[in-house]
Amino acid sequence: MATTNSPAIEFHNVSRLFGDVKAVDHVSLTIDDGEFFTLLGPSGSGKTTCLRMIAGFEQPSAGQIKLYGQDVTNLPPYERDVNTVFQDYALFPHMTVGENIAYGLMIKKVPKAERERRTAEMLELVRLPGLQNRKPSQLSGGQQQRIALARALINRPRVLLLDEPLGALDLKLRQQMQVELKGIQHEVGITFIFVTHDQEEALTMSDRIAVFNQGKIEQVGSPAALYEHPATRFVATFVGVSNVMEGETAVSLTGSPQTFSVRPEKIRLVAVETAVSPTQCTTTGRVEEVVYLGMNTRYLVRLDNGSEIAVVAQNLDTTSMDVLSARGKQVRLVWPREFNRPLAEK
Ligand code: ATP
Repeated sequence: MATTNSPAIEFHNVSRLFGDVKAVDHVSLTIDDGEFFTLLGPSGSGKTTCLRMIAGFEQPSAGQIKLYGQDVTNLPPYERDVNTVFQDYALFPHMTVGENIAYGLMIKKVPKAERERRTAEMLELVRLPGLQNRKPSQLSGGQQQRIALARALINRPRVLLLDEPLGALDLKLRQQMQVELKGIQHEVGITFIFVTHDQEEALTMSDRIAVFNQGKIEQVGSPAALYEHPATRFVATFVGVSNVMEGETAVSLTGSPQTFSVRPEKIRLVAVETAVSPTQCTTTGRVEEVVYLGMNTRYLVRLDNGSEIAVVAQNLDTTSMDVLSARGKQVRLVWPREFNRPLAEK
């Protein structure tokens, strides 16, 4: 039986094989009620297969899936209290917006007056009041995606699954929808499980993120925890940009061969002769590349031992002329040791 204080979703050692491809490989995971939870990873890492197993479109090869404490591993999709929003909206083109949104209620034979009331409520929720009588073809991509969201939410599922729902939108609209989607989740208070390969999108919206790599979860944590304390090389480089120091470079910087990462924005470029305190890491190199990005500048520095370090600096009181003149110069790199993050080798 489903219980109210159980987590929304539990994966216990779940695997899914397609022939000899391990799409999902021994994944265990708990998602709490009311969380905005993101499955993040590159293409082919197993995110969508996990989402489809929650929806019931796909069966695990091994392991158990629970929804609010109830074992749903072998339940068909229609017996699960979840709904899915897909990237391609999948709206019915011949129906009006209102008919699309109310479709689930019509199937359940909800009376017309209640259908109309709840459809109007949903249009308010997705900030498109009064559009009931339009056809999907008369809407922009962003508007169609909001209608798909309204159609999924009108059934009041306990969990909403979102499979790259913003993937087809241009960057500006996508960023606007990210903020709105988070607002809507807050308003309806149900669990959202969101799939994306876009780390910035995941950081913007999520309460917690699971980072997938080759069918396995590398790390689960809040956006700040993943960014500030990446546990593995994969997470350090997939979530934001990191410099990974290993081998001789690690030894020369810290005295230890332990591999570690440091974010480019933690490193400062100073004159070679600048004195450095023992609480800081330091090395020298030559500025090989300078990319002026308006708000920031990205530098690529070739260390004396041949390895490369990326540095990002805000353009607080420097002009593009100043920063571009750094190219080719010998510099010192300095950063507080406290920003070094040891990485587990997997
Ligand atoms: P994307 O972002 O590209 O959708 P993803 O992280 O969601 O990627 P999945 O779609 O879960 O990844 O796929 C994981 C692996 O399983 C991939 O190697 C994929 O080719 C394989 N796979 C997924 N579905 C099937 C299927 N029905 N038959 C065979 N292989 C499949």
